[in-house]
Amino acid sequence: MERDYPLEKVRNFGIIAHIDAGKTTTSERILYYTGMTHKIGEVHEGETVTDWMEQERERGITITAAAITCFWNKTDVSKSKENFVRFNIIDTPGHIDFTVEVKRSLRVLDGAVVVFDGVAGVEPQSETNWRYADEAQVPRICFINKLDRTGASFERSYKSILDRLNSKAVRMQIPVGLEDEFEGVIDLLKMKMFMFEGEMGSNVIESDIPEKYQAEAKQYHNELVERIVENDEKLMNEYLEGKEIPMEILKKTLRKAVIANEIFPVYAGSALKNKGVQLVLDAVVDYLPAPSDLPPVKGIDPRNGEEVTRGPSDKEPFAALAFKLQADPFVGQLTFFRVYSGSVEAGSYIYNATTGTKERVGRMVRLQADQREEVKKVFAGEIAAMVGLKDTKTSHTLCDEANPIVLEEIKFPEPVISLRIEPKTKADQEKMGMALKKLSDEDPTFRISTDEETMETIISGMGELHLEIIVDRMKREFNVDANVGKPQVAYKETITRESEAEHKYIKQTGGRGQYGHVKIRIKPIDKNVDLEDLPKNVKRKDHHFEFINSIKGGVVPQEFIPPVEKGIIEAMDRGVQAGYKMVDISSELYDGSYHDVDSSEIAFKIAASQAFQEAARKAGPVILEPIMKVEIVTPEQFMGDVTGNLSSKRAQIEGMGERGMLKVVTAKVPLSEMFGYTTSLRSMTEGRASSTMEFDHYDIVPQNVALTIIESRK
Ligand code: GDP
Repeated sequence: MERDYPLEKVRNFGIIAHIDAGKTTTSERILYYTGMTHKIGEVHEGETVTDWMEQERERGITITAAAITCFWNKTDVSKSKENFVRFNIIDTPGHIDFTVEVKRSLRVLDGAVVVFDGVAGVEPQSETNWRYADEAQVPRICFINKLDRTGASFERSYKSILDRLNSKAVRMQIPVGLEDEFEGVIDLLKMKMFMFEGEMGSNVIESDIPEKYQAEAKQYHNELVERIVENDEKLMNEYLEGKEIPMEILKKTLRKAVIANEIFPVYAGSALKNKGVQLVLDAVVDYLPAPSDLPPVKGIDPRNGEEVTRGPSDKEPFAALAFKLQADPFVGQLTFFRVYSGSVEAGSYIYNATTGTKERVGRMVRLQADQREEVKKVFAGEIAAMVGLKDTKTSHTLCDEANPIVLEEIKFPEPVISLRIEPKTKADQEKMGMALKKLSDEDPTFRISTDEETMETIISGMGELHLEIIVDRMKREFNVDANVGKPQVAYKETITRESEAEHKYIKQTGGRGQYGHVKIRIKPIDKNVDLEDLPKNVKRKDHHFEFINSIKGGVVPQEFIPPVEKGIIEAMDRGVQAGYKMVDISSELYDGSYHDVDSSEIAFKIAASQAFQEAARKAGPVILEPIMKVEIVTPEQFMGDVTGNLSSKRAQIEGMGERGMLKVVTAKVPLSEMFGYTTSLRSMTEGRASSTMEFDHYDIVPQNVALTIIESRK
């Protein structure tokens, strides 16, 4: 079976935005123009195609990243089969509690359209998402939306992109009119004006630039051409010699620059008023990369640990990344995957290189706006979903068993908030365990644990809303009713200096005795060392845990080393101050002794655990707390109240600025001070200020606060 779309005619992209910037509306328009839907569901009616989960509809935010396939025929070429391009659009949420979704989709996307609110310009989550996209080196097109709104300004929003995101952004268009009078756009490369007429603005009408815009357009056109030719020395010279550069060459050079993250083109429009979206889609085809434009992906051969690569070609062995598990009401569990090389057929067996197990692929589907298309074979560069996988989770690599490869895992942030959850009835009890497991399989930032003393279930996640939605889904999808406790901050513990301790565990009570003896040294982990550069006897998992075995001459026999490590891990999980998990510690086993008859695994585990606790108490232990980055937008008259209130919350105010008529305050504030903040801000400002918050880093809790925390845990 041959592929139906050449690799060059595939675009895998996502639409990323700060919440409310218009991502859903833009996606809706895209599905309309690409001919997949003919009825536009307005957001407030809860009928959007991409938001197909119940509570997403209610909350009006998109939680899950569904991949949707559609086809686009550019506005400036003839409508024929060979001109169609296949879009696989990955929907990403704007709300910061779900950045995990943004991160995971960025991993499998080749490009992104970043949507901005034309009144607010760059907002906090645009910044966070932009940073993630930088890390993933994803080429981007910017779309300044909502230019029809009162107070909209293309220039101000464009400047906020240049100032706060990247100075390599460049105007591709300017709006014709603004606010109520926003009519269309001027394309600064083609030097034409575009209007959008007919039903849903589906007729794109090209005409000459009106007199009054000509001077401005000419100036920006020159700036744009200069920015493009800068990327090619030969072109630059021709340009400086005054030669006319053909349009095709300019577009080709621009395409290369966008793919290299050297230029971020900026477009203008209003999704709601049906203006500009089609031209953004043309730009996706013209400037965002096809899978074939990308370098081969890197991975590790699990048989020998060596680096291997896979190029974007059907001829290479099959390699794919599972990036999302989603329960589908019609076909069951879907595993969304992106193929990097080779192809996969329905009904075949594949190898999960992450777990080392074989899986049978049942059916495969591609989600379209209103249907699930069954597919027999999925080729390199494509995105689709498998039905029927059993043991594959987010971030696992699927591949050809004879040519195994493990692709780099998607890294997820650690949860910062947790709460106790208790089933309402006996019947709920059994279902709850299963429901929580299913939900945590889907979402790697959602964790389940048990309080060992009370045996209560604790769930942890990225924010209050995140956990609220989990509890909500449990009720709806699994029919489990539960009582939940108050959200608690996920504190951690660590040490601040080096220390050593020795413990001898001996028991002589008739029969066989117990004997375990260890000396260990602990210190804060040096995070500046690259994981690859560590010596052989150092074992490090991320930067939170390190174990060094420097035993010489078998003074502690090899078989007792793993129990020592286990004893340390258990002690770290229990903490030494307030019962919170200890992190970022390097533990070294450097001496000890054993007894021929009495030594056992358990004796060494206990000895190590005791020694670790003793060492940790001497190593300047501290409690760590999550610090949040908070942004508050408020009318000037409430500035004093807002900042005064922040100061009472141990906040560090980092900046004050302006956004249109409003003031913007940014601060770093401990999460423990921020519960219920949205409500108190509302009452403080007559409901006129708004705030956003996201996790920034963990920091040491001040002494007096630490004492209260320790006291409360007794
Ligand atoms: P999302 O949260 O980024 O998905 O944003 P939505 O698409 O849900 O839009 C948020 C709100 O802004 C909704 O009430 C939309 O109707 C409105 N909106 C979206 N695009 C535009 C636009 O171009 N102009 C105006 N005036 N409102 C818009």
